[in-house]
Amino acid sequence: MGAQNEQVTGLEVWIDQELCTGDGICAQYAPDVFELDIDGLAYVKAPAPAGEEAELLTAPGASAPVPLPLLNDVVDSARECPGECIHVRRVSDGTEVHGPDAAEAPGTGNTP
Ligand code: SF4
Repeated sequence: MGAQNEQVTGLEVWIDQELCTGDGICAQYAPDVFELDIDGLAYVKAPAPAGEEAELLTAPGASAPVPLPLLNDVVDSARECPGECIHVRRVSDGTEVHGPDAAEAPGTGNTP
């Protein structure tokens, strides 16, 4: 495995295809990360070495690292996604930081 030279965020993104409406907003915001496949649903792309085409990860729920230069675009996509099905999580512990399951405020539990 080669080291990633791109600046990394420690975050990865995945899509719940069962909820995807196929409107393509994510692919407009971050075309280097999201793409619609021929089934009309959005998938994430694996990072590709410079000059090579990124591979579309068509396994349901596949995740891809979020490069730092694209973080804002990915977060905007998660925010605007009408299906509420773009999830951005920390690689280290799997905590969702942007998306429908992200906690509004930091905390360790849901106790009122
Ligand atoms: S923005 Fe959300 S609902 Fe729309 S295509 Fe992308 S993942 Fe699917």
